[in-house]
Parts: sequence; structure tokens; C-alpha cells
Amino acid sequence: MTQTASTTSARADDGRKRFASVDPRTGEVVAHHPIAGEDEVREAVRLARGAAAFWADLGFDGRRARLDAWRKLLVRRLEDAQQLISAETGKSADDARTELALVIDHLHWAARRAAKVLGRRKVSPGMLMYNHVATLEYRPLGVVGVIGPWNYPAFTPMGSIAYALAAGNAVVFKPSELTPGVGVFLASTFAEVVPEHPVFQVVTGFGETGAALCRSGVDKIAFTGSTPTGRKVMAECAATLTPVLVECGGKDPLIVAEDADVRAAAEGAVWGGIFNSGQTCAGVERVYVADAVYDEFLALVTEKAGKLRPGGEPGADFGPITMPRQVEVIQAHVADALERGGRAVVGGLESIRPPYVEPVVLVDVPEDSTAVTEETFGPTLVVNRVADADEGVRRANALRYGLGATVFSRNRGEELAARLRCGMVSINSVLAYASVPGLPFGGVGDSGFGRIHGEDGLREFTYAHSAARKRFGALLNPMTYDRGSRTIRHVLRLVRLLHGR
Ligand code: NDP
Repeated sequence: MTQTASTTSARADDGRKRFASVDPRTGEVVAHHPIAGEDEVREAVRLARGAAAFWADLGFDGRRARLDAWRKLLVRRLEDAQQLISAETGKSADDARTELALVIDHLHWAARRAAKVLGRRKVSPGMLMYNHVATLEYRPLGVVGVIGPWNYPAFTPMGSIAYALAAGNAVVFKPSELTPGVGVFLASTFAEVVPEHPVFQVVTGFGETGAALCRSGVDKIAFTGSTPTGRKVMAECAATLTPVLVECGGKDPLIVAEDADVRAAAEGAVWGGIFNSGQTCAGVERVYVADAVYDEFLALVTEKAGKLRPGGEPGADFGPITMPRQVEVIQAHVADALERGGRAVVGGLESIRPPYVEPVVLVDVPEDSTAVTEETFGPTLVVNRVADADEGVRRANALRYGLGATVFSRNRGEELAARLRCGMVSINSVLAYASVPGLPFGGVGDSGFGRIHGEDGLREFTYAHSAARKRFGALLNPMTYDRGSRTIRHVLRLVRLLHGR
């Protein structure tokens, strides 16, 4: 029987409750980890508070040196990290290596850019306040709690961890119960380059450990996971007015316009929908294809997707479904599509053979089917015909989710992209925005709010600190009881002159 993390909890010799992480390909235990309770989480946050002062005092240059050393260490340990990621998620070695390459690139960007984005700088004081020097800097919040998912157990949480650290915060990270070892690996390699204080710690356990982190008094929670859990996290954080960053699920559309490079679009749809077994928050789930190119596109998708095979062996195209429960969701969505008149042109219900799911391509699926409206998180694609790209945009915008999107069009890519209600769009390629460290990553609506990555991702873990210093007395000062009505008349004359025309 394939085990799951929750079926293997036990007590260790030290009396602490532990649980196992399990290889979804084989059901074998990868390692045991402690279940951190309320007290352990609070203790980690207490220690982090002391460490935060040390880390903030290092300044941008000091932190950059340590983060650069960590990055180089991660490059040296890349194969160890890959094996751990593959063992805990089942993903192929190359998918894990790709994930790590992105982690390393983002870490480099965050460390290098933090000083420029967050450091003290002058701001124009404006005409009315010409006698002042205005300055702005972004200060670290203190201790940031990060709660992460299992599908990209390094890349996704590092979108918060690397940026929060670069901004000068200490971090306490609760990884998914399915991928605790990856979290421990990240924190222990960091500790090799920052041995003095526990600047980056990990607390392992189940959802209750995450809830304890929300209640622990951290200065912000950065949550990435499903929309229902995101709601719980917000509710928990509301009690202590702890600010939250919420990166949730998606149901990302791909639009193929009349003038698209159809071959590239088909390649993009198949890759974007199926790599990592479709377990990608911003993966392609719905495809809307203009009537003029629909048949050609579908023939190419059918051919390409039909050749792909999941498995645990090195040559497999993609791995198993990491979370056993998700198989039921995939099954329910495929069944719903078929019951409501959709057709499977690749695979079908018989493709679902836990822990593996072979590619499934569904067509003519009603827009109110759960296969269209809810996150499936499996190697499935819904490919629906639309009159033109404009109808594709309307359908794409019809859901409450709004994470990412893709447009294939030779001439209208940017115009169509601008009309999509979502946080990120890739034009004539898939998921490109996620690999550009300077671009903020995040969604709208049910996909959450706040941003990781980019300058916004650095500022997300800071607060703005503004100062206005008087340099000399002003000729007109309306902000004193000595001002007199003449001063106000002159100020209003100036305002009319400056802003009234
Ligand atoms: P979950 O929402 O199940 O869990 C996410 C994290 O929250 C886990 O660490 C989980 O712990 C923890 N958690 C569970 N319950 C609570 C609680 N009450 N309070 C605090 N923390 C809690 O998501 P998955 O791990 O299944 O990840 C898949 C989801 O993540 C998908 O919906 C996917 O779209 C989304 N995602 C979004 C991304 C984005 O950037 N927008 C990126 C990657 C994934 P435990 O695992 O122990 O239950």
C-alpha cells in the first residue's frame, strides 16, 4: 500500500511525535521528522526574534555576502537536493533540476537587488515642501513565517524565503507535510553559511503546525497553497492582525489566436499542462482555440500528449501524483466532463492508475463543468473551440481564479494579454514570467494577493519608513498657529497656479 505522511506518525525515543515523508513512487519512507506543536513553534519564533536583530545589523552588503555563499553551496549540493526533491515528490530528476536552477537564479537576484530596491533614497519633496529633504527606506518586518506547498517544495517557498532574507528578516518555514526533508535541507545548508544565529529555521508537521505559526506572533505570514487553506490562514492571522501574503491556486487559460504559430502553441499547451504531472499552480489547465486553427491545433496536441508516459524510472516523461488524495479530484473532474458531453481525445478515466495518471485531453467540455471551473492539478487539458481569440479572452476571464495565463498570437499577443484579468501573462511561450526574477509573481481573486519575486517581492517583506527633514525656514508655512490668513491666501494662490490649470 502506498503510505502517506499522515499514516505513519509515531513517537521517537525522545518522546517527540514524528511523522514520515514517503516516496510516492514506491511508498517507501524517505525520513522521519518531528511534529512541531504550539510550544515548539513559539520557541522557534522567539529564537528567530534574536537572530533577526543580528541579520538586520549585517546590512545589505553583509547579507549579500552570506546569501551568495549559500547560493554557491546550493550549486555544489544540487544533485543531493535533486534526489531529495525527487524522493519526496516523485518528480523526474530533470524537473527537479529545473526547479533548483530557478531557485538559484532567484536567490542571486534577490541578494543583488535588495540594496537598490530597499535602501535609503531621496524622494522629491515637491514645490510646497521645497525646504525639506524627503527620504524613504524599506525596513525588515522582523520575523516572517513561510508556509509552503509540496508541488515545488524548493522554488515556491524560496520565492518568499530568499526575498524575506534579502530584505533583512529572519524566517521560520513550515514546509508541506509531504516535503519536510526539502525544507530541512534548505535550512541546514543556510546554517552552514550563517552558523552564528538561527536566522532561518524549519518547523515540520501537519496543518496544525502551520496554524500554530499563524498564531505565533510573527510579523507576517507568507502562505502558498490551496485557496481553501488560504482562507483558513487569513482567518487565523486576523485574530492577531498578522499581515498575510496569500499565493493560491489557479485554473490558468491558454488562448490560441487565429494568427498563432500553431505548432508552438501545441507544444506550449502540452508542456504547460503536463510537466510535473500537471501539478503546477500556474500550469495550463484550460485551452481556448480560435475556430480557424482548432483542428490543426488539436491534431498536434493529440499526437504530442498521446506519446507521453508517466513513471518512476529515469526515462519517464513525468512522475506520479504526489498527493494521493488529488487522484480523486482528477478522476471527479474527468468524469464530470465526460458525463456532461465532453469527449476524451487522449486517454480517459482508464488513464488514472494511482499513483500515476497518463495524459488526458478533453474537448467540447461545458464551461460549467468542474473540469473547467476548478483546479484539477493533474496531467489533463481541456481544449475548447471558440469563435475567435476575443471569445477566448471572455471565457478566460469568467472564473474567480486569476493567477497566470498564456496567449499565442503573432500580431495581437500584447493586446490580448492586456485584457486578461490575472497577475501574469506569457506571450508565445508558457510560464516565462516565473523564470524572470525581476517580474512579480502572484494572482488576483481566488488566486490570492500580494507578490513574491521582483521588486514587489522584496518590498512585500518590509515596511516603508519615510522621513522629512527641515533644511531651512520656509517663506510660507501654513502648518503653524502663527501662520496668519495672508499665508493661507498665498499658499492657495500657489496651489491654483501649480495645479488649477
Ligand atoms: P495546501 O493548501 O493543502 O497546503 C499548503 C500548506 O499549508 C502546507 O504546508 C500545509 O501543511 C499548510 N496548512 C494546511 N492547513 C493549514 C492551516 N489550517 N493553517 C496553516 N497552514 C496550513 O496546499 P498543497 O500543499 O496541497 O499545495 C497545492 C496548492 O498550492 C495548489 O492549490 C496550488 O495551486 C497551490 N500553489 C500555489 C502557488 C502560487 O504561487 N500561487 C505555487 C504553488 C502551489 P500540510 O501539508 O502539512 O497540510
